[in-house]
Amino acid sequence: MEQQVTFQDLNLNTPLYNALDDLGFEYPTPIQSQAFNVVASGKDVVGIAQTGTGKTFAYMLPILRHLKYSRQDNPRVLILVPTRELVVQVVEEIEKLAAYINVRVLGVYGGTNINTQKQAVAEGQDIIVATPGRLFDLALSHVLQLKSIQKLVIDEVDVMLDLGFRHQLLNIFDILPERRQNIMFSATMTEDVDDLISDFFITPQRITVAVSGTPLHNIEQSRYEVANFYTKVNLLEHLLNDTETYNKVLIFVAFKKLADLLFDQLEERFPGQACVIHSNKTQNYRLRSIEQFRAGENRILIATDVMARGLDIENISHVINFDTPKYPENYMHRIGRTGRAEQQGHALTFSKEKEFEAIQTIESYMDMKVPLLDFPSEVEVSKQLIEEERPQIRERNNPTKRSDEDAPGPAYHEKKDKNKKENLGGSYKFKIAAKYKKPKTRGDKNYNKRNKRK
Ligand code: AMP
Repeated sequence: MEQQVTFQDLNLNTPLYNALDDLGFEYPTPIQSQAFNVVASGKDVVGIAQTGTGKTFAYMLPILRHLKYSRQDNPRVLILVPTRELVVQVVEEIEKLAAYINVRVLGVYGGTNINTQKQAVAEGQDIIVATPGRLFDLALSHVLQLKSIQKLVIDEVDVMLDLGFRHQLLNIFDILPERRQNIMFSATMTEDVDDLISDFFITPQRITVAVSGTPLHNIEQSRYEVANFYTKVNLLEHLLNDTETYNKVLIFVAFKKLADLLFDQLEERFPGQACVIHSNKTQNYRLRSIEQFRAGENRILIATDVMARGLDIENISHVINFDTPKYPENYMHRIGRTGRAEQQGHALTFSKEKEFEAIQTIESYMDMKVPLLDFPSEVEVSKQLIEEERPQIRERNNPTKRSDEDAPGPAYHEKKDKNKKENLGGSYKFKIAAKYKKPKTRGDKNYNKRNKRK
């Protein structure tokens, strides 16, 4: 059996051990033991872990372990989080862990008086915890200098991007020193998160913790192969007709647009029985929907990955993956919503051809096959296609396009000598880049991409 890692196995120091003792924490959580050395090494890190896994200490333990005492006023660690509640929570956690360390921590967020925050910043800080918008405003006012930031943590990056903060993040990247360690934590992987990683991180080390406590043994998993979106709708409606079996159903859809489209379809067929949550809905609307679903007033809840995480609702009879998650971690998060407290849960996954590869990835991640069910013969296969399913219109079908025979031949006169020169890209910038092999402009996205593939 694998030996349980203890805090003694991590290279901490007395002030941290004392703080952990006070907190009564005996063992590091899996994300804490896995992340410690990687974060401490200074490499870029992407951690996939949900709230509740101890992820705040996963990045704070190594950061506090190696943060030296300093009198300088400019902060050296910046932690970005999506909401002000999280700012408060993270600051509290850091203060507990740093109880015996002389470190200055400040939380800043929007919706409160910026002048009070400016004063606090001006007193000198070591660690700033912030929401992106307020951070940027403070930086623009020049009260907050970011030139000494050595470590950037972006926590709950999936929520951050889902709430539309990408642009704000890019603005902040632009004013941060180029040489810094990037540490990202996300509960789910999404395309947006993937894009951000490939655009701005150089070969980050990835740490994933298995979704703890996902009781695979009491979740019955099965799947259907389905032709297209509207056929999936037909199949779903067919299943949901059985109100007794499908009495509390959580349906996952990857994109907001499709979540809304599906909601409209179900609302027609089962009026008043469904509700939907995603980040374009207001907080109140989302809370109300969740409450109605929890209380059983609505039998069906449609949700996107990011919005449904952390949902702890009892007695969910079925999780239906209306689409097949591209990332196996998301599949685990999704199905873990059913089969709680040792009850039998059911997880159904719909896959169209494009998604077959994803189901294979999920199966190898779990090291088990998800049984395939026969597509019910009474369900109509729809011919209607949504935009992304329609065939691409190809240029060669364009009747106005010139055929090859009509193509112009070579120029009938030789080029003049001066025009024969080939452009070798001989600018100063290219020479310097070739010599030093590093980007001369900040955040050179293409350079990072090129080098990542090496
Ligand atoms: P987080 O995932 O960072 O939101 O942490 C979830 C909760 O677990 C917080 O209340 C932490 O204080 C607590 N926690 C963090 N690390 C440990 C640990 N090693 N042992 C017990 N509880 C922990």
